[in-house]
Amino acid sequence: MLLDIRDIVTYPYVIDEIMPGKDFDLLEFHAEAVDDVMFSASLNRFQGSSLLDFSLKTLLRAPCVRCLEPVDIPVAKRDRAYLFLQNDAADHHELSEQELDYYFLSTGCLDITAFALEQLIISLPEKVLCREDCRGLCPHCGINRNHSTCDCDKQVIDARWEALSKIKL
Ligand SMILES: [Zn+2]
Ligand SMILES: [Zn+2]
Repeated sequence: MLLDIRDIVTYPYVIDEIMPGKDFDLLEFHAEAVDDVMFSASLNRFQGSSLLDFSLKTLLRAPCVRCLEPVDIPVAKRDRAYLFLQNDAADHHELSEQELDYYFLSTGCLDITAFALEQLIISLPEKVLCREDCRGLCPHCGINRNHSTCDCDKQVIDARWEALSKIKL
């Protein structure tokens, strides 16, 4: 959905969008949105820019980095962003690029889907874990060590002892 902020005449301007999770391509991050993405926002004029107060809610799913089991990641965030028309941006060139919540709209339009996608990417944890102490997969036989045990570690140690015992001191 495209929002042309030049067309807005009355403020606050309220946005309520429910977008299907499959519209959000998070493949690059090995994640997917398994629920609708609910986006609500109110847009106000603010010192020459437009202030977007928004909230975003959905359920993401991504594999645990250790055991590869799918992990549900609920997202419920509330934040704000400042939208500038490109013309306004020229007057604000002193702004630091580190201001992540500043958006410069060259066409005057905000792509709500792209904006929400970016927010979802930011919401993804750096490291997805099914639980803090996930024991991961055995590097030898691939068994999920959260659910079962194997003797691989023991065998590796035995093999090392055997190698050691062959060394003549
Ligand atoms: Zn895990
Ligand atoms: Zn094993």
